[in-house]
Amino acid sequence: MNNKTSHNQTKLTSALSFFQSTNNPDIVTGIDRLTDTFLQQDKVSSGLNSQELQQKFNVISVPKHGISQNDFLQEVEDLVSAHSVNTGSPYFIGHMTSLLPNFIRPLAKLKIALNQNMVKLETANAATFYEKQALAMLHKEVYQLDQAEYKNCILDPSKSLGVVTSGGTIANITALQCARASSLVADVEELGIHSVLQQSGLSKSVVIVSELGHYSIKKSLSLLGLGKQNMLTVKVDSQQKIDLDELRTTLLHCQKEKVHVMAMIGVAGTTECGSFDPLIEMADLAEEFGHYFHVDAAWGGPLIFSEQYRSLLNGIERADSVTIDGHKQLYLPMGTGIVLFRNIDMAAAIANEANYIIRRNSHDLGRIAIEGSRPANIFYLQAGLKLFGKQGYAEILDANITTAALMAEEINKSNDFRLLTKPQSNIFLYHYIPGQLRNKVDWSEIEHQKINEFNVQLQEEQKSRGNTFVSRTTISHESSEPMVALRVVIANPLSTFQHCLSVLQEQRKIAKEMEEAI
Ligand SMILES: *Cc1c(COP(=O)(O)O)cnc(C)c1O
Repeated sequence: MNNKTSHNQTKLTSALSFFQSTNNPDIVTGIDRLTDTFLQQDKVSSGLNSQELQQKFNVISVPKHGISQNDFLQEVEDLVSAHSVNTGSPYFIGHMTSLLPNFIRPLAKLKIALNQNMVKLETANAATFYEKQALAMLHKEVYQLDQAEYKNCILDPSKSLGVVTSGGTIANITALQCARASSLVADVEELGIHSVLQQSGLSKSVVIVSELGHYSIKKSLSLLGLGKQNMLTVKVDSQQKIDLDELRTTLLHCQKEKVHVMAMIGVAGTTECGSFDPLIEMADLAEEFGHYFHVDAAWGGPLIFSEQYRSLLNGIERADSVTIDGHKQLYLPMGTGIVLFRNIDMAAAIANEANYIIRRNSHDLGRIAIEGSRPANIFYLQAGLKLFGKQGYAEILDANITTAALMAEEINKSNDFRLLTKPQSNIFLYHYIPGQLRNKVDWSEIEHQKINEFNVQLQEEQKSRGNTFVSRTTISHESSEPMVALRVVIANPLSTFQHCLSVLQEQRKIAKEMEEAI
């Protein structure tokens, strides 16, 4: 018998077998076990640092023959899941990523089993209208058009309420792509920014946002051909909101210098400290100067459901476009973003066609999406909106804001921690002040630096212990010296005030050890 042939044949059979049976018992039980192990841990992370981790991933070759399923699972367990971050831990209160609701995992199975491709009707069909319906539901919360207009929108393929994207970044880029077309000529899509500006006798085009704007705005400018340096930032006031006087000055300056303003952007929930720009005043200015107005509500958008905090978003209904991230405060898995358009005809300017795939005047969602093939994450969005309802989301978001306020109050009345930003929602900044520098206000530059270094070390040590977590940033406003800040994000609905106190307690313990070691 020819050994080689028989070997090849077994391999061929085993590759095909991955497609033949719908249920692969080894993988199913293995994955269930890994999932349970991961979710049952108390730790936030294994604490392995990136140097140690790198070493584990330095074998680079695709195996000639597939490895066994058990070996594969073992590798996933030992190398990846064991050192993954437990973003669902109630002690993980430093990032926008947190616990997912329990209906998501089974729903993900369905989504994957159906494997729809949202790019076009022929590969999505019902899911296309499922998505349009969800967009209409969200659009209505923000813009409150007539019921008839929403019906019309779902029926008429030339209208578009928005796009479901893989996240806030793509949502912002899509919005600014619309801003580019509607603030210049739609033909900019075809001709490119360079020749359009030249033809219009304009020197350059800029986007205006506060200094706390998300870095995805810069990315957008780079991709849209404006260049990152043409993001004009306006300083924020003592409440981390865009300074309206400086905004007006900037707008007047652009007008005088014949600089084209592609868009003004209001941030509704800054990534850094959860502050909300004054959207009504910004909308007034946008109207006065005739500029496109985008609201980046990637973080704060879901507060639209909260009776108590909806007012933070007042004016959002006047934005030409709005970004909302599903994978942040709508508690959906990674890869779910949304951009909404006030004018349902606006997106026609950025539509694409391709004979074999995206037909003109079709309902194909790929027509106005930056992404091509796209997963049916609409299952998650629909589930979130329908299972939580407005009330459910409001309950969770309101409670998180209360928890953040309690923790901030605790910090405010302590003498070792100092609050750096007052929470307007569920994100705020603070820092630790080492013993000998307390009860003093006018720190010298060197003392200032000492405090900063102390906080960097404190946060690093806390992270490496892997029990609790807050993140870290540097703020430059309010004081001339850049200030290292510890950043709290209360996103996990199961993070209580008690969990917050434990986080502070661990920081005090680490700080004490650090101070004794000096
Ligand atoms: C998170 C965030 C983004 C970017 O969203 P991704 O989903 O990470 O791409 C944009 N703007 C703001 C204000 C954000 O908080």
